[in-house]
Amino acid sequence: MQHANPAAFREAASRFVTGVTVLTTLDQHRNVCGMTVNSFITVSLSPPTVLVSIMPGRMHRAIAESRRYCVNVLPEDGRGLSKHFSGRPSAGTKPSYELVHGLPRLPGCVAFFACEVTQSIDVNDHTLFIAEVSSCDHCDNAPLVFFSSRYHLGPGTPIDR
Ligand SMILES: Cc1cc2nc3c(=O)[nH]c(=O)nc-3n(C[C@H](O)[C@H](O)[C@H](O)COP(=O)(O)OP(=O)(O)OC[C@H]3O[C@@H](n4cnc5c(N)ncnc54)[C@H](O)[C@@H]3O)c2cc1C
Repeated sequence: MQHANPAAFREAASRFVTGVTVLTTLDQHRNVCGMTVNSFITVSLSPPTVLVSIMPGRMHRAIAESRRYCVNVLPEDGRGLSKHFSGRPSAGTKPSYELVHGLPRLPGCVAFFACEVTQSIDVNDHTLFIAEVSSCDHCDNAPLVFFSSRYHLGPGTPIDR
């Protein structure tokens, strides 16, 4: 099979609007690991199941060991946290955590999911970590939005449902 040009693929994929999450977990030394992720999707409702697609690295190793992760959906003022957890830490960003069911949660997020990994599937250069959701909650604050490789404020203007 012929594959799409990598640059064209990235450009086209960037036109799919997403929110921005920070995955958090504890590594084998019980240190908090965090990573910015927008590949979060819901997979099924019963049981509530989600997945994230993660490239090899520190967070990949931590999830493979702990078999647990939190999904923290960032609010619209979360751009600093997103940059911090994607390898661009800034002096002014100092993340804090609260432990919930033994998992590190970022306070002030618009939604939170505590997840237990049930399957991990290697697909080319990433791994899908499929997980059942043991608890979740949300608030009605506006989310951070990612589109065309840039951050945007809020959810836009509703037109219908
Ligand atoms: C909008 C967006 C969406 C993305 N989506 C995905 C995706 O779906 N899948 C994917 O594989 N990659 C994704 N990435 C890329 C990914 O966020 C980076 O490649 C990331 O640096 C890899 O994380 P790591 O744990 O492997 O590396 P690391 O570089 O070890 O960690 C990432 C950053 O988090 C900081 N950090 C980690 N733990 C802590 C802590 N306890 N306290 C303070 N700081 C900490 C580190 O200092 C580092 O700057 C996305 C990036 C962006 C900007």
